[in-house]
Amino acid sequence: MKSTVMIVEDEASLVTMLRYNLEKEGFNVTEAGDGEEALVIADETPPDAVLLDWMLPRMSGIEVCRQLRRKSETRNVPIIMLTARNEEADKIRGLNVGADDYLTKPFSMPELIARVRALLRRAKPSQNKGAINFVDIVMDLDSHRVSRSNKQIHLGPTEFRLLQFFMERPGTVFSREELLNGVWGPDIYVEPRTVDVHIRRLRKALNETGGMDVIRTVRAAGYSIDATAPVEEVAAAE
Ligand code: CA
Repeated sequence: MKSTVMIVEDEASLVTMLRYNLEKEGFNVTEAGDGEEALVIADETPPDAVLLDWMLPRMSGIEVCRQLRRKSETRNVPIIMLTARNEEADKIRGLNVGADDYLTKPFSMPELIARVRALLRRAKPSQNKGAINFVDIVMDLDSHRVSRSNKQIHLGPTEFRLLQFFMERPGTVFSREELLNGVWGPDIYVEPRTVDVHIRRLRKALNETGGMDVIRTVRAAGYSIDATAPVEEVAAAE
């Protein structure tokens, strides 16, 4: 899949040149001529990287950077500040508000492309966690949305982590202690019975859409997510 680079720049000739070179290198390109437009475009088409001019009409590049960092969709997006200024203080200011890199105009296109690629390589794993599926359940790890048969499911934060833990390891049975370690973390003391409470809530939320019960309770062993959960076994252990 192509990565999308958003160009935020009011100098039309530079935009044309950037677009041409980025598209030639296989990127999708979106563009905004000022900061307000940039925030709208970023909402419509979340970029994988941003080239952000410092001096923009109405809203400065610094302010755009700050606002992009406040939105969950663009919190981790790599941002390269483009500027005509050359002062060290400005560079530090840019990096302080969350820019990842900095290029002083005029810059060479190969240099810019190399920087974009380097940032994308670094950002990819954490930036886009993607989605995980288990039968008819889909967890979008970026937007934190869960759905079953396309119906939205509302989960508390613990139930969300619990479901993610199971869905990343389908079919494996985990004891309460293993779940406490994996979901709550080894340093947190929680009564093992607390696990049962959250399992119950998770199961209830998942079953509300009318699908089969996929949380398997294994007597004296623990829990797993399993599409072939035998009903009587569930009933016996509860
Ligand atoms: Ca400018």
